Amino acid sequence: MNIENKKRNTLRRINTRRITSTVKKLFIEANTILGEDIVSALQSALREEGSPIGKQVLTKILQNADIACESAMPICQDTGLAVLFVEVGQDVRIIGGDLREAIHEGVRQAYEEGFLRKSVCDPLTRKNTGDNTPAIIHMDIVPGNQLKIIAMPKGGGSENMSAATMLIPAAGIDGIKKFVMETVERAGANPCPPIIVGIGIGGSLEQACILAKKALLRPVGKKNESDSRLEQMENELYEKINTLGIGPAGLGGRVTTLAVQAEMMPCHIASMPVAVNIQSHVARHKETII
Ligand code: SF4
Repeated sequence: MNIENKKRNTLRRINTRRITSTVKKLFIEANTILGEDIVSALQSALREEGSPIGKQVLTKILQNADIACESAMPICQDTGLAVLFVEVGQDVRIIGGDLREAIHEGVRQAYEEGFLRKSVCDPLTRKNTGDNTPAIIHMDIVPGNQLKIIAMPKGGGSENMSAATMLIPAAGIDGIKKFVMETVERAGANPCPPIIVGIGIGGSLEQACILAKKALLRPVGKKNESDSRLEQMENELYEKINTLGIGPAGLGGRVTTLAVQAEMMPCHIASMPVAVNIQSHVARHKETII
């Protein structure tokens, strides 16, 4: 047996049919079942909220999540742009077709058969693509022989209020905090508060945006314990944002944000990329490993 054949035989085969059905299931579940972490964050917010209208809004949000789960209906009318983070083990061999097409097919089936709103269109003509594709696929090659798929339907309202910038290197952590506060204040009621604030620092312009989105995948309220500077910044911003008074649904109150979550990586000596990805209270993501 030559080396190529030997290598092929040690690779774990995963059929694209399985990938399609997994993606379909994940997007239907993500759109109908709110994660336990966000439900528990909303329950804590309800206990902490002082404003009667704020309490009323949080109660309705929780009731809505229950109804959606029980009746297998979407949690929100905006069923999102289909964002995926896919980790492909380097010892996996995809068989049966094209990996990206298999993912797109899973999205197509989820939105069609799950009766989810199709929200993707041509940016200029605004003509709907009709099946919620193309999906946004962030693909990484990792060690191992497994395939990890994270499905994240991302609503337009909260994505619209997100922002990225290139600060001067001397801006430091104070410059980052200022940019985050400006972004959240400008967002106001638009991203359906209470929100979750994802922050990406470093890398390049596009990498900072990906870091900010990845920060939203952590369980709600989980601090970045790998770096005490970030953990401190997350705590400080959480307190400060919750003094803005925007409140649930923007109707005033204490709870404007449920969590602030940051990720960071090294960057060019001349740069300080920073991105803020805002997530509404419908923080949807489901994942699985094949
Ligand atoms: S921002 Fe979130 S909660 Fe608001 S409409 Fe969009 S998906 Fe729904």
